[in-house]
Amino acid sequence: MLPRLRLPLRGRRDLVCQEAVELVTDYLEGTLSRADRRRFEAHLAVCPHCTEYLAQMRATIELTGGLTAADLTPQMQDEFIALYRQWRTGQNGT
Ligand SMILES: [Zn+2]
Repeated sequence: MLPRLRLPLRGRRDLVCQEAVELVTDYLEGTLSRADRRRFEAHLAVCPHCTEYLAQMRATIELTGGLTAADLTPQMQDEFIALYRQWRTGQNGT
């Protein structure tokens, strides 16, 4: 059993976001475990990028009339992650 440590996990946000992005479809489909769902929502609360991503996913689902996990290819996820990276490095655009 490990002691509870309060580690400041700064500098790890990219990984967390990537993980969150991977959970979005499961979240929207309601297939996340309760623990994962909490973790996901906790991350959304502090991460505007993932909040925006979730909003976009919802909009996409409304447009297409439904999106299954199969529709969100790993390639699509990669594209979103790449978009995030750009967004992050050039926050305010031009
Ligand atoms: Zn995030």
